[in-house]
Amino acid sequence: MSSVLRIALQKSGRLSEDSYQLFKECGIRFDYGTGKLKSVSSNFPAEFLFLRDDDIPGYVEDGVADLGIVGENVAVETGRPVTTVHKLGFSKCRLSIAIPRGTEWSGIQDLHGKNIATSYPNLLGNYLAGEGVQAEIHEISGSVEIAPSIGLAEAVCDIVSSGSTLLSNGLKEVETIFRSEAILIARPELAADKQALLDKLLFRIKSVQAAKN
Ligand code: ATP
Ligand code: ZN
Repeated sequence: MSSVLRIALQKSGRLSEDSYQLFKECGIRFDYGTGKLKSVSSNFPAEFLFLRDDDIPGYVEDGVADLGIVGENVAVETGRPVTTVHKLGFSKCRLSIAIPRGTEWSGIQDLHGKNIATSYPNLLGNYLAGEGVQAEIHEISGSVEIAPSIGLAEAVCDIVSSGSTLLSNGLKEVETIFRSEAILIARPELAADKQALLDKLLFRIKSVQAAKN
């Protein structure tokens, strides 16, 4: 038996450091930050792939990876049929609607007929539909917060943690539509040998978390 778990992690970004740290605390050693795409653990049957976070749910669905760590926001936005195995408690943030500071706000209905810039068109679209609000969603991939000042949109829907980016762009947060943290995702149908390895990994993750609480 030489089954190996393939685990996809964000190469470099807001999930990376805590993801690497988690495996380290689980006693699973591997090299990262070497610029390589792949690294094999020296003491656990696991192989790590370093990717852009947005690509991870798709790779897990396709079976290129068995497991992955992503933000719930990305897992939900991509809509890939992957299993959420466990919440990891780091990279906490929220997806919020923000408008120019000087604009009055009486509720979500104010967005009716407005243009909203976001990198999360599905999450936002579903939320607005649930609220019965019809608005124009402009999908942009980065620097969403500058959209109002350049006349591209009257509101934005973006990731917020401290709120300082919104503030420095003259925006105020008016509605939170989604709360997120890092999660461990898996292929829905793992083979029994890989499931056994996942169970072993999960046991260690839970022990690490329990020791911190
Ligand atoms: P990549 O180059 O891999 O595509 P990215 O720029 O899309 O990276 P990051 O900014 O590194 O993504 O964010 C990764 C994830 O971390 C987000 O999807 C979200 O879940 C979480 N996150 C984003 N911003 C923050 C923040 N300010 N504080 C905490 N967590 C955050
Ligand atoms: Zn990304």
